[in-house]
Amino acid sequence: MNIQIKTQGAAATRPLAGKVSLVTGSTSGIGLGIARGLAEAGSAVVLNGLGIASEITRTREQIAADFGVKAGYSPADMTRPSSITEMIDVTLAEHGRFDVLVNNAGIQHVAPLEQFPADKWDAILAINLSSAFHTTRAVLPSMRRNRFGRIINIASAHGLVASPYKAAYVAAKHGVVGLTKVTALETAEDGITCNAICPGYVYTPLVEAQIDSQAKAHGISRDKVIRDVLLAQQPNKRFASVEELGALTVFLASEAAASITGIALPVDGGWTAH
Ligand code: NAD
Repeated sequence: MNIQIKTQGAAATRPLAGKVSLVTGSTSGIGLGIARGLAEAGSAVVLNGLGIASEITRTREQIAADFGVKAGYSPADMTRPSSITEMIDVTLAEHGRFDVLVNNAGIQHVAPLEQFPADKWDAILAINLSSAFHTTRAVLPSMRRNRFGRIINIASAHGLVASPYKAAYVAAKHGVVGLTKVTALETAEDGITCNAICPGYVYTPLVEAQIDSQAKAHGISRDKVIRDVLLAQQPNKRFASVEELGALTVFLASEAAASITGIALPVDGGWTAH
């Protein structure tokens, strides 16, 4: 009786023990929050993204110390398909399996269509959309062999609706939602699920910097910037947290979510309910 209770407790707190997860773009912001969530749930994690080497090493060490899991890092550039496939090959060689792939790396550029720089369009499409195609096709053979896999694509509310001046971002994020559906259909009988998370505004260091700079630029208070500028579209007037996205990712990666596949789940405080 006691043993059964202990086992259930361990499974409930460490539902991803023994699993291996890779999160692209996880040296900061949402990706880092998701990587920490997966590690807390017991999964070994491989980080990826740009940044200062010593800070990335500190982040890895912190995750390993906080959660008692292996925390690796790949410097793969998400604009380079060969670098992406190498990252997947190295992860498989080092860990021997691949369970959870989170396609999170992303960048943004805002400009009217006629002035939108072509190189920014290419970079956004490469990092926000094509990288997910390259990682997904590279992990599928191993996931199919194990008859288990979870692919979680971090899209955006902009994967469901548009805003002006964000042509490349909106096109890429709508593409991510489409790729999610196709991946779900092609893997449905193999124990693999693929879902997209579509956040509205999430509180990250970049958002924090925007609050101060917009307050100075417009000569208005931080509260006014948050309510009337940044969260103008978001009915609940609150930022989602990276911890909330981490918890949702852990749920989608768990056995409890085995029948959820092909969805684009808004986490946007009602934005896309308009
Ligand atoms: P962020 O800038 O904090 O993180 C982006 C990550 O991507 C970083 O780790 C960065 O190093 C990495 N990256 C950028 N270019 C790369 C490249 N060429 N190769 C490898 N890694 C690269 O941003 P964030 O706000 O945490 O955004 C993460 C994801 O969430 C993005 O896809 C973004 O579109 C999406 N998103 C963010 C919000 C938000 O409010 N912050 C809302 C909706 C969706």
